[in-house]
Amino acid sequence: MKVIEHFENAKGQTLISFEVLPPLKGGSMKTIFDTLDPLLEFKPPFIDVTYHRQEFLYKMRDSGYYEKIAIRKRPGTVGICASIMHHYGIDAVPHLICGGFTKEETENALIDLNFLNVKNVLVLRGDARRFDDRFVPEPGGHEYAVDLVRQVVSMNKGKYLDLDIENGLKTDFCIGIAGYPEKHFEAPNMRSDIQFTREKVEAGAHYIVTQMFFDNSKYLEYVDSCRENGMDVPIVAGLKPLTRKSQLSSLPRHFHVGIPDDLARAVEKATKPEDVREVGIEWCIAQSKELKAKGVPCLHYYTMGDTETIRRIVKEVF
Ligand code: FAD
Repeated sequence: MKVIEHFENAKGQTLISFEVLPPLKGGSMKTIFDTLDPLLEFKPPFIDVTYHRQEFLYKMRDSGYYEKIAIRKRPGTVGICASIMHHYGIDAVPHLICGGFTKEETENALIDLNFLNVKNVLVLRGDARRFDDRFVPEPGGHEYAVDLVRQVVSMNKGKYLDLDIENGLKTDFCIGIAGYPEKHFEAPNMRSDIQFTREKVEAGAHYIVTQMFFDNSKYLEYVDSCRENGMDVPIVAGLKPLTRKSQLSSLPRHFHVGIPDDLARAVEKATKPEDVREVGIEWCIAQSKELKAKGVPCLHYYTMGDTETIRRIVKEVF
């Protein structure tokens, strides 16, 4: 089923969903099942699986020269989605990115997904590679997520890159996109970022999933802004508990989100790692309860492999 249909069927009830990362190369599906098994009692209608593009590393060889090595640390997104759907009968949402893909490769990936009966995609641009100072599109690929949304929409109309294909199979993908309650870090300001998000919705995106946030007022203001700018699609709240003191700086650095002063002070005051974790869990429970009371369509938890923490939170909220 499509994500958007799950929202319609929920009739205003807040849904829960989870995001998982593919295991590191050499790992197995057991890692995914071990993450998801304890969360199934909450009946998530869909589960997202992230996509990780190829990176280049420089390794020093015995000769003293550096060799450039291509490595994809977490492959397997499509296979994991198919496996989740087969094993649990739950809809899987593969993340689809522009980075590293030509349009032709994207088209072929979408054909694979369609043949596997995957009905949903979360369409993203992807980040810059580690040694690039900005996002560089693949030659023959897309520069912005909106262009990828347009490609999926075209396939939903039966239009393929090869214009000689007549009466091509119409896919029927439900399209999610990313939104940033605290602005995407490259956007000059919130107004500009909202306009580009609106462009994605006008291009055919069906719903938005937000970047994680720790201050609910940021999410609520963001929803208001989207509505004022003519976007009426569901806006899923992305949540991740803070569980380690080091995350006071790593989360802002990697995800460009702020940590509210009350939370930061409580974490700084905690002396033991387990106390920090408790502070983070309590904060996320309070956030989730408030958002649920406000009737958000879905609370989407970034599991990052920490099932036990997510389980504790969701059990308190639902
Ligand atoms: P876009 O919508 O293309 O926006 C990127 C930037 O360009 C923004 O600053 C925007 O304001 C600006 N912009 C947009 N359109 C235009 C235009 N036409 N002209 C000028 N500027 C424009 N990354 C992964 O690699 N794999 C994942 O699985 C993954 N999952 C994610 C899930 C969620 C819920 C979120 C929030 C992010 C995820 N990311 C993932 C990270 C994401 O790829 C990055 O945040 C990326 O930097 C931006 O992606 P986007 O789709 O928002 O890009």
